[in-house]
Amino acid sequence: MGNFDKIVNLSKNRGFIFPGSDIYDGLANTWDYGPVGVELKNNIKRAWWKKFVQEAHNSFGIDADIFMNSRVWDASGHTASFSDPKMDCKSCKTRHRADNLIEEHSKGKVNPDLMTNEEMEKYINEHHICCPKCGKCDWTGIRNFNLMFSTSRGVTDESQNLIYLRPETAQGEFVNFLNVQRSMRAKVPFGIAQIGKAFRNEVTPGNFTFRTIEFEQMEHQWFCHADESMKYYEEYKKKAMDFLLSLGFNKEHLRYHDHDKLAHYAKAACDIQYLYPIGWEELNGIHHRGDWDLSRHQEFSGKSMLYLDPYTNEKYIPNVIEYSIGADRLTLAVMCEAYEEEKLDNGETRVVMHFHPAIAPYKVAILPLQKNLSEKTMEVYSKLSKHFMVTYDEAGSIGKRYRRQDEIGTPMCVTIDFDTLEDNTVTVRDRDTMQQIRIKIDDLVDYVSEKIKY
Ligand code: ATP
Repeated sequence: MGNFDKIVNLSKNRGFIFPGSDIYDGLANTWDYGPVGVELKNNIKRAWWKKFVQEAHNSFGIDADIFMNSRVWDASGHTASFSDPKMDCKSCKTRHRADNLIEEHSKGKVNPDLMTNEEMEKYINEHHICCPKCGKCDWTGIRNFNLMFSTSRGVTDESQNLIYLRPETAQGEFVNFLNVQRSMRAKVPFGIAQIGKAFRNEVTPGNFTFRTIEFEQMEHQWFCHADESMKYYEEYKKKAMDFLLSLGFNKEHLRYHDHDKLAHYAKAACDIQYLYPIGWEELNGIHHRGDWDLSRHQEFSGKSMLYLDPYTNEKYIPNVIEYSIGADRLTLAVMCEAYEEEKLDNGETRVVMHFHPAIAPYKVAILPLQKNLSEKTMEVYSKLSKHFMVTYDEAGSIGKRYRRQDEIGTPMCVTIDFDTLEDNTVTVRDRDTMQQIRIKIDDLVDYVSEKIKY
């Protein structure tokens, strides 16, 4: 497992993730995925969609708009209470989250989620918790800081209306509950999933892509009868964990973390945490939300959210089990998990990203051993690129080229040599074992397909 600095460097140098607006000295906490990173993240999103939509029998995907009627955010409670408790250091003017200060000071022994703002202020004063930036203990009081970004909509100044960039994708699934249920003739229990951007004006963003102001979420809402809801809550806890294990995570690096404090409407909630190089942190959440979301939308929109069970004739508002995971936070965890500095027998060290082949950015690198093999090389490239993301490299020694592919986690390297011209065979080198085998070009597509199965 790599540390953050090494992963940030590798990301920039090997095309995974670049600092946002780089040539203008960046914009804090914004990041751009490069050619390699975008493949990795897309593959992760595809793997998630496969498990939670394609193979899920009764789940449906949507892609809702980022902008929503502002009443949605009144109904969801975000306008009133989607906020963090912030304190400013009067001395160096930096802004901090009171809950984080307490958590860090107590080394996780005190849970600030269980405290009111007054209790947090008292704790910070009594324990002389000072500003981590300048060391002074001169705080403003705690104020709740709303995390939603707002903008205005309208062609003239007078007609401007306040609208928000969504802080989560979930509301798109709730407001489309009836549309999906009717158009797909779906019967409860069923699920609605989507992957999309969300925006939060975080008080303390940072740790590379772990906490950013713009990020992507993969969310799945399971609508079910209250009587069965706890069963499904447990099921989704397991499904969420199984998904991570299927991507190749070591189970020792993952753990469930039950919430100590529940929202007033919630019946149960837990996170799955990953052991990032910065310690155990939330990777995803599974929340039993009762019938709160649909009931609130019924109340605020005036549209009935009642579901009529065709078998029992019972009319009810379904409960929701929400499963939510950040695509960027997961991509970062996948990178941390895959990173290895491996000591080789010859005393050298190679950096290798052991991605599950299904999510590796490129499946195959095609490497001609001599420059004048380009015609054959292009033939193999064209053949494989119809099926998989492949890359090509003819610069430098073969050893250096292998190292470059190891660093971006390419599971197979195919070398073309003079024998290839004679007998149409190539050498395939495995990223993890570094073993090489000789196979026919005609068998390559089947061979690679088998290796990258998910
Ligand atoms: P945290 O406690 O880390 O702020 P949260 O409990 O607010 O997260 P949720 O609202 O449950 O998070 O969002 C679901 C998921 O979205 C999180 O588990 C995380 O993977 C991702 N996520 C949330 N906020 C951010 C962010 N600012 N940057 C990147 N990913 C995020």
